[in-house]
Amino acid sequence: MNAEKKQVIYLASGNAHKVAEMGALAARDGLGVEILSAKALGGMPAVAEDTGTFEGNARKKARALWEKAPRGSVVLADDSGVCVEHLGGGPGVESAYFAGPQGDSAANLRKLTDVMRGVPAERRGAKFYCMLFLIDEDGAEHVFDGECRGVLLEEPRGGAGFGYDPLFVPEGFTQSYAELGDEVTSRLSHRARAWTALATWWRNRERPGH
Ligand code: IMP
Repeated sequence: MNAEKKQVIYLASGNAHKVAEMGALAARDGLGVEILSAKALGGMPAVAEDTGTFEGNARKKARALWEKAPRGSVVLADDSGVCVEHLGGGPGVESAYFAGPQGDSAANLRKLTDVMRGVPAERRGAKFYCMLFLIDEDGAEHVFDGECRGVLLEEPRGGAGFGYDPLFVPEGFTQSYAELGDEVTSRLSHRARAWTALATWWRNRERPGH
């Protein structure tokens, strides 16, 4: 038994990669929090991600899980995507559904590869963006964001990660996210950067009676 009682943060996501990444970030930062997936509350309720903004979608996911959680819970939602200059910032908030409503990530990756085929290097700029939306014990809302700039490859490379990772090369590197793996992406990813902003706030927040 662990004698130290950790504050639980429920993550409003069914994405195992996101849960693992957040859990690793929380452990690394020694925040004294435990990230549990929505499964711990019986699963993530279905939420239509239709607000057209990262913040709106993240808020909907966070609220949906918060409604299910015991009073006084802390809930965190993530909404993220890849924004491509050549596509006017798309697929952006639609990243999960780029190739259709079924949210097939292999099909999404193929579509982005196809759409970008032959686009010259100077127009292959892209960024991953992450919005974190936290609802605290009192129901108050807090937002944090982060981004990671880079370029898109002509063909996917590498086997780690998920989603568009095999196509994205972060600034200052020559390998894709999917080749670099967790050790590097946990330092420079959009989610890691948003998490760092959240962690700074978490350490400094005032909690009467705590
Ligand atoms: P959502 O945040 O669950 O709406 O989904 C965001 C979508 O953006 C995912 O399905 C992925 O396609 C893509 N995405 C977000 N973050 C990452 C990442 O770290 N690596 C690769 N793809 C990502």
